[in-house]
Amino acid sequence: MSYTALYRKFRPDEFEDVKGQDAIVKTLKNQIKAERIGHAYLFCGTRGTGKTSVAKIFAKAVNCEHPADGSPCGECAACRAVASGASMNVIEIDAASNNGVDNIREIREEVAYRPTEGRYKVYIIDEVHMLSIGAFNALLKTLEEPPEYVIFILATTEAHKIPVTILSRCQRYDFKRITIDTISARLTELIEKEQWDVEEKAVRYIAKAADGSMRDALSLLDQCAAFYIGERLTYDHVLEVLGAVDTAVFSRLLREVIAMDVRRVIKTVEELVMQGRELSQLASDLTWYLRNLLLVKGSGEMEDILDVSTENLAQLKEEAQMLDNDTLIRYIRVFSELTNQLKYATQKRVLLEVTLIKLCCPAMEVSRDALLDRIRAVEKQLEEGLPERPARDRAYGGERGGPPQAEAAKPKLPEALSEDVKTVAQNFRTIVNDISPMLKTYLKKAKLSAGEGNRLLIVCPDEMGASVVGTKEHKAEIEAQIQEKIGKQVEIEVRQVEAGRRFEDQYADLENLQELIHMEITVED
Ligand SMILES: [Zn+2]
Repeated sequence: MSYTALYRKFRPDEFEDVKGQDAIVKTLKNQIKAERIGHAYLFCGTRGTGKTSVAKIFAKAVNCEHPADGSPCGECAACRAVASGASMNVIEIDAASNNGVDNIREIREEVAYRPTEGRYKVYIIDEVHMLSIGAFNALLKTLEEPPEYVIFILATTEAHKIPVTILSRCQRYDFKRITIDTISARLTELIEKEQWDVEEKAVRYIAKAADGSMRDALSLLDQCAAFYIGERLTYDHVLEVLGAVDTAVFSRLLREVIAMDVRRVIKTVEELVMQGRELSQLASDLTWYLRNLLLVKGSGEMEDILDVSTENLAQLKEEAQMLDNDTLIRYIRVFSELTNQLKYATQKRVLLEVTLIKLCCPAMEVSRDALLDRIRAVEKQLEEGLPERPARDRAYGGERGGPPQAEAAKPKLPEALSEDVKTVAQNFRTIVNDISPMLKTYLKKAKLSAGEGNRLLIVCPDEMGASVVGTKEHKAEIEAQIQEKIGKQVEIEVRQVEAGRRFEDQYADLENLQELIHMEITVED
């Protein structure tokens, strides 16, 4: 036996089965009852909201021999002909593939003939915004003087693409996105009919993921059910099939961001990637999670609006206390922007990581860093006087004839550089040997220099590296390794090279330890 997709099997064939468009259904039924039927209708709205279904039921109702309360009886010859697709009175046209002038001219010729049986010829033109300008003009001529036995129903997801001349001749109906509650109720109804065993939480998640489209909801349910035929379909199964993530993970991720724990955050992302979770979906769900937090923060009585269990609600309330409104709104903005970016991105993981790291390190501003560096450089120059100006500057000065490289090639140890820092630099490879792999990756690209007050300066080539290496925990980790491996207490300082500048240029006045000690500072994997 072949399997029929749910959305085909349960396509509504009477007005009562259409969910979430009550106002539209009521108006159309009233028109049928009062026999005040228009000649041109425009149905607009997002996909899967019931436009074509309503159009077909309406077409059936206007031709029905015994309509009851504006609804088609479903039993007369006319109703059965429409239901089986055999009726000559209901003509469906997909404008996406029939968008030329000739297609519309054909309709105009047909329209001249009265229906052989029944009262109305109903033309349903789907995706009508796809018609060419010529086709619209041809259609307009028919709409201007429609025979009394013709009804046009134009359906579109993009009403703004329809010429005003056409719009002005149609009764317009805007189909709303269907609410989560309505979709859930419909899904539950169908699950009962199919005698499936589906966890309620799973149904709610599918309804939410469908984003207002009943057709998408049915397709998603189909997709999930196909994976677990004969088994109880649980929330976890649905998450797995859709590549989505449980809310517990968002809670964890958020707490890690609030704690500014870059290391943990990156680890969590790693786990999610390993589990094959879809990162665009993750960003979108996370935005939704943050929105719930904002609602909880706004008012304590949001239980019925929020789609969460009681234990999750307690957690949300706790997290809402951890953040102020401005930060929360900023987070929501950041993640909704990220959701859009991820749709078209190839390096989804990197984008997600960078975003999370930025949230962890709000103070990490390129410009501020650069400014501090300049002040430090000026201070140093003032301390040491003009002769100590870097070789680079001198080359542009009056000594053009002399060989400035000769001096630069023999760097001296700065007096400030302690033996300890030197030892650390020389043994850096050993020191970082046991450091966590992620941190090691970033250290690999960094260079070492002498910092103020006998500190070891680690200079990263980019913001990402500096923000990862520069967290409190990571600095502590490196310092602990120094202590353990060579028994010295050396403080470290992390900076990044200013955008567009080379390490050598920016730190020309600080000595580059790497050149100084004539050794390659490498970090093994
Ligand atoms: Zn009928």
